Amino acid sequence: MTTVVLERTPADAPSSALRFYQFNTLMLETNGPRLWDSLMAMAEIGATANGGSSRLALTAEDAAGRALFVRWAEAEGLSVSRDAIGNLFARRAGQADGPPVVIGSHLDTQPKGGRFDGVLGVLAALEAVRTLNENNIQTRAPIEIANWTNEEGARFTPAMLGSSVFTGALALDDGLAREDTHGERIADSLQIIGEAGDTPLARPFDAYFEAHIEQGPVLEDNDKTIGVVTGGQAIRWLDVHLTGKAGHAGTTPMPVRRDAMFAAAEAMAAIEDHVAGVDGLLATIGECHVDHGSRNTIAADVAFTLDLRHPADAVVDAAIDRIRERLAERLPTRGVEHELSLHWRSPALPFDDTCVGHVRDAAKALGCAWQDIISGAGHDAFHLARHCPTAMVFIPCADGLSHHEAESIEPEHAKRAADVLVNAALARAGRV
Ligand SMILES: [Zn+2]
Repeated sequence: MTTVVLERTPADAPSSALRFYQFNTLMLETNGPRLWDSLMAMAEIGATANGGSSRLALTAEDAAGRALFVRWAEAEGLSVSRDAIGNLFARRAGQADGPPVVIGSHLDTQPKGGRFDGVLGVLAALEAVRTLNENNIQTRAPIEIANWTNEEGARFTPAMLGSSVFTGALALDDGLAREDTHGERIADSLQIIGEAGDTPLARPFDAYFEAHIEQGPVLEDNDKTIGVVTGGQAIRWLDVHLTGKAGHAGTTPMPVRRDAMFAAAEAMAAIEDHVAGVDGLLATIGECHVDHGSRNTIAADVAFTLDLRHPADAVVDAAIDRIRERLAERLPTRGVEHELSLHWRSPALPFDDTCVGHVRDAAKALGCAWQDIISGAGHDAFHLARHCPTAMVFIPCADGLSHHEAESIEPEHAKRAADVLVNAALARAGRV
């Protein structure tokens, strides 16, 4: 992965630079310190005591973050617009007035969030545009920066609300009616901060690229700078319900018990055992409830949730079949009835080959250490992927930590995210 610089920019060139790399491909580099300054300035809005940020969607803090972004965008000559759910767009005109190549992410955070989740994608997009501007690069298609409303799902549910309304996965009326815990509706919040507009929902995009921190440890463990995201994994949510018989903890002999809790423990162990044998399969039991639980009563009614994930639908579906068989083998011997039901199914979502190719080509040509990766977390890009050709760029975050004030990235990695983003977007939009 060596990079041969065939031509250096003159000393008086702008701080973002044009360089000729191997295969004679003209690659752009963004201005790392400028991007970092912007990230740190945004982090000051809603800054928390322990070094994070708190900008819940459509609050005064979010409004201030949006205003800062708009100021920066307008300074670059971009035209700013909003749609009815408050998604914010900043457009750089292209030679043709066709569907834009859109780059972005979200500026809202968790209540005690980090400085980079989402923010990196919006400000790397801004840095990409700044770099195009100072190098006087024209594109055929317009390039737009997007800031999606309420990605985090922390103030209003569901998560990724703005992008789901934009793409039609959630009806606008339904989105506007969502309430926070104080009963304030999104429609009210949008009006209070003046962030609703009339740019059409679901208008055509040529493509969508999103840069994001990985929020997991894979890139860091593999010593890679860039993750070329090939898609999102298949997700299944299941409910397991076990029914035994209640009884006195002191008077019921063990052999005659029909204990739903020990049956649940055996079921969980069987699930873990199966998952351990399948490469890449992830299982999480995040909730477990004992109905009418009491410390001196045999549990009769136990329910737990199961979240299964894998890049391939077939693997997850096969896992469900196998888990079903295992439970059917083991639990009847305990005199406990069980039911395994599917609560929610989200298919694996491969990104667009051409757009993924642009990301991979840019990472290679820039000489980044890169690897293909599947996204473990949900992102606005997953909604956009059903609307237009889509791809994502990941960079590592320290210890894979996210949704936490201590979220941390390397400035050089942030720059590389913007470098890959601008070159991928430029390859798609077409240089004039
Ligand atoms: Zn995010």
